[in-house]
Amino acid sequence: MLDLAEFRGSLDGELFSPDSPGYDAIRRPVDPAFREVRPRLVAACRSVSDVVGTLRHATATGERLAVRGGGHCFAGRSSTDGIVLDMSGLAGVSVAADVATIGAGARLAQVYAALHAHGRTLPAGCGPTVGIAGLTLGGGIGLLGREHGLTCDRLVGARVVLADGSVVDCDQDHDADLFWALRGAGGGQFGVVTSLRFDTVPEPTTTRVEAHWTDVALDDLVTAWQAWAPDAPDELTVNLGLVSEPGAPVRAVLFGAASLDAGATRELVRDLADRAGVPAATELRASLPYHLLKRTFAERDDVSGRVLHRRSEFFARPLAPDTLRSLLRQLGEPRDQGRRELAFTAMGGAYNRVAEDATAFAHRGERFLLEHVADAADPWVDASWATAHADGSGRVYPNFPDPALDDWPAAYHAGNHPRLAAVKQAYDPHRRFDFAQAVRPAAEGEA
Ligand SMILES: Cc1cc2nc3c(=O)[nH]c(=O)nc-3n(C[C@H](O)[C@H](O)[C@H](O)COP(=O)(O)OP(=O)(O)OC[C@H]3O[C@@H](n4cnc5c(N)ncnc54)[C@H](O)[C@@H]3O)c2cc1C
Repeated sequence: MLDLAEFRGSLDGELFSPDSPGYDAIRRPVDPAFREVRPRLVAACRSVSDVVGTLRHATATGERLAVRGGGHCFAGRSSTDGIVLDMSGLAGVSVAADVATIGAGARLAQVYAALHAHGRTLPAGCGPTVGIAGLTLGGGIGLLGREHGLTCDRLVGARVVLADGSVVDCDQDHDADLFWALRGAGGGQFGVVTSLRFDTVPEPTTTRVEAHWTDVALDDLVTAWQAWAPDAPDELTVNLGLVSEPGAPVRAVLFGAASLDAGATRELVRDLADRAGVPAATELRASLPYHLLKRTFAERDDVSGRVLHRRSEFFARPLAPDTLRSLLRQLGEPRDQGRRELAFTAMGGAYNRVAEDATAFAHRGERFLLEHVADAADPWVDASWATAHADGSGRVYPNFPDPALDDWPAAYHAGNHPRLAAVKQAYDPHRRFDFAQAVRPAAEGEA
């Protein structure tokens, strides 16, 4: 085994220990909930051989290892008191014959900007600092998803450092089971991905949609949105947020985009307003290339500084009227402090035109995703989640991990769990890549 100095000297990138200048800056993930976790080492990798060396060092010392892309994991899985393997130095983007090869440390803002230069893009999320690897490995929901599917549906190959230190290029024809598992089961479970190859799509010109309402019947609005948004034309994705702040009425925020012109978009959104009986006061911004559209949503996704508690679930059918009434009452109940949000994300479209077992992402029959988000100390999140759960499908998005789930294998993976356990057995039988809700090798049985 290399001693620490030899290990440091063997890297193309840098190794940070608590006494290194810059340690505090590099050790902190984006999510403030995990900013106090102090790793013994952070390896800022710049090459595949750095990843192999770090993995070997962690195996030799028996230390916990956490792989970090964008550092956004809600459950803190990219933080550890052992060794953080930081991928941000492996962030190149190149495009050939419309296939993009993207370093696993790239963040979404970089990815959109680099692909724009080629007139291409990917259906992916909004947060500009979200990592492409974490997003893709757990699925990847975004404003082009109803038209082009999940980010992981566009993945055509990946380079992966396995638990034994070997490096494989997996795709449909090579290590096909591993490639299947990388598409939507959630990151950090089967190996360290160093680069991803995507079949890109042409970058569309979009119309941005935003509307705010305060004085409307919220139950009518949610009822109309539930019936309308998941069945809207694929080119249109419109999500709904209900925001409650102390001393103010709950406000509704409609936001999304269409790869359609402003006239067609206005007609479609007017249909929702008519069904809901709300004024069609929608703000549209036309002719936005997709990468600029994404920038306009960056502020919405800026959660810096707030320690949040989030829980979520997929829904295959609308909320029952009683459930919806209870949710709205709980959301708006009087209190002194704390912002609360119910966030409805439209599914349907291309997300659901892929078979449940075609990729590891099992949630292909859902109509929407509902998140409950508030400050960490607010007990409302658990109460609100329990209310909605009565009508939920029991499925949970692997990229929105929820440590409180009872039966997490069923919630995250449904019928895909046995095959995932077999892949784990084949590629990481000794659980080198592990956390509380990681898939266990098949030989160990159920979680
Ligand atoms: C502000 C914000 C906006 C968001 N917006 C969206 C959205 O629009 N759509 C959506 O679908 N999701 C969204 N998410 C959720 C996001 O998809 C997940 O948080 C995702 O896991 C983040 O990936 P990351 O690389 O940034 O985080 P990390 O914490 O670095 O990684 C997440 C997980 O993946 C693992 N991992 C990371 N890189 C690798 C690698 N190279 N190899 C193997 N495992 C790896 C980590 O170990 C960890 O388990 C958002 C989250 C935030 C905080």
